[in-house]
Amino acid sequence: MDAYDVIIVGTGAGGGTLARHLAPSGKRILLLERGDWLPREPQNWSAADVFIDNRYISPDTWYDAKGKAFQPQVHYFVGGATKLYGAALYRLRREDFGELKHHDGISPAWPIGYDDMEPWYTLAERLYQVHGARGEDPTEPPASAPYPFPALTHEPRIQQLADDLAAGGFHPFHAPCGVMLDEADPPYSRCLRCGTCDGFPCLVQAKSDAEVLGVRPALEHPNVTLVTNARALKLVTNDAGTEVTGVEVDHAGTREVFAADLYVLSCGAANSAKLLLASANDAHPNGLANGSDQVGRNYMFHNSQAVLALSKEPNPTVFQKTLGVNDFYFGGNGFEYPMGNIQMIGKSQADMFKGEKPLETKLAPGFALRDVASHAVDFWLSTEDLPVPENRVTLEPDGNLRLSYSAANATAAGRLYHQLKSMLGRLGMHPDHLIPRHAYLKTDIPVAGVAHQAGTCRFGTDPATSVLDTDCRAHEVDNLYVVDTSFFPSIGAVNPALTAMANALRVGDHLRERLGAP
Ligand SMILES: Cc1cc2nc3c(=O)[nH]c(=O)nc-3n(C[C@H](O)[C@H](O)[C@H](O)COP(=O)(O)OP(=O)(O)OC[C@H]3O[C@@H](n4cnc5c(N)ncnc54)[C@H](O)[C@@H]3O)c2cc1C
Ligand code: SF4
Repeated sequence: MDAYDVIIVGTGAGGGTLARHLAPSGKRILLLERGDWLPREPQNWSAADVFIDNRYISPDTWYDAKGKAFQPQVHYFVGGATKLYGAALYRLRREDFGELKHHDGISPAWPIGYDDMEPWYTLAERLYQVHGARGEDPTEPPASAPYPFPALTHEPRIQQLADDLAAGGFHPFHAPCGVMLDEADPPYSRCLRCGTCDGFPCLVQAKSDAEVLGVRPALEHPNVTLVTNARALKLVTNDAGTEVTGVEVDHAGTREVFAADLYVLSCGAANSAKLLLASANDAHPNGLANGSDQVGRNYMFHNSQAVLALSKEPNPTVFQKTLGVNDFYFGGNGFEYPMGNIQMIGKSQADMFKGEKPLETKLAPGFALRDVASHAVDFWLSTEDLPVPENRVTLEPDGNLRLSYSAANATAAGRLYHQLKSMLGRLGMHPDHLIPRHAYLKTDIPVAGVAHQAGTCRFGTDPATSVLDTDCRAHEVDNLYVVDTSFFPSIGAVNPALTAMANALRVGDHLRERLGAP
């Protein structure tokens, strides 16, 4: 059996970024990924294949709180969920690291502050080639460097929206975006600025995802090995339970064990918790690192709504995800609690509407669905989800994952929706139509939309109330770390990937020191 210095399980935002950071150390690094490379094929950019047939949703069966089976929106590929993500790469706000009072409860403080994370955000923005503009968003936290690339320009209808918002006294900003677009040199730009980005894989590998900018650069180092189709089943420990000694893997149907000095989980928040729970042994009868009974608890995933407004003028925008509004992030308009973030999502196409009941019933017959598509302006409203211990991952007797979840902060989410709706008339849109629609996944089971999952192994200073210490090392197991979004004690209301990437770099530095690596 080969011995490695570090095994990283999972190659998404956390694991892929960590691999790239550790690779130049010369240490022997093994990446275990349950999925395969995402195929490069014409269907990457087909709305019908991606949104109607769910071509890149990986087969898996989870159960909801009532024991009903469902298929979650998971993407088991090299690069994880970032292969399909919208690449909106936001920093959390400085205030998100402190305690924040919400309508439905408290968003708890992190054990580290924004200033501790800032240098890692800056490095993550550089590695993931983020485009943006500082100084436009009043809620933006301080940054030690400008964005490495200029903001993506708005197309005319979105520029009009920005102008109308500004005229109304709001502060629209250019959204931070991870696509490799060079607007100054189109013939040489890797990104084509196409209309099939958010929720689609990028056929030309121009999206700043964890395969292209994490795993591939890591594999250029001879000391890094990737094994695909390798699903971690269980972590094995020494008798005392103080150290992991191996990871059992189903490798394309064969059971194998891999060993290293250090183990890092990055399977996504639900699957990392599942793996720890499935690794129960005599020393850890409730699951590995779970003496506090915290593993799997406080699952969060954002109280998000995809909504469609109808522009009075046609909206021929191709790449729509260039604008954000945080004027209501901390409240406003008589509501003293945080409401959240407003941003654009990928421009909807008629093919995506099939089977969307609210669109078919509320708009038809007044609008033909093709007219809806040509006039649609698509927003994504994101309200912070609060950590609730009963929202949790547990194991079913058959070994599958049960996700018990009920949404928090519904009042604030409702306020954000009505806030936007009240503004439509001034933004050149039909005032009565702000239609909820499916984003990314067609399902009637809201809990299946696990794109922004976080919080099942939170980090903290007290082993009684957290799973990981501030280095994201398990309190109870010396050589075990978790670097996916599991560690979040709270999730804020902006997209989580950049925070997972920045934290993986932060933890990576600790690991390099621990390994005595340069
Ligand atoms: C459609 C979509 C759009 C999104 N848009 C945005 C956006 O615009 N901005 C943003 O910030 N975030 C976005 N997100 C969320 C973002 O992608 C995730 O927050 C981020 O990828 C989480 O990183 P992670 O490392 O925790 O997990 P993942 O990136 O999901 O990686 C987990 C990896 O672990 C592997 N794995 C799981 N179990 C095992 C096992 N047992 N053994 C081996 N490997 C395993 C998986 O195959 C996967 O590769 C989006 C997500 C989706 C699905
Ligand atoms: S917009 Fe650019 S990064 Fe996104 S899918 Fe198209 S080519 Fe790829």
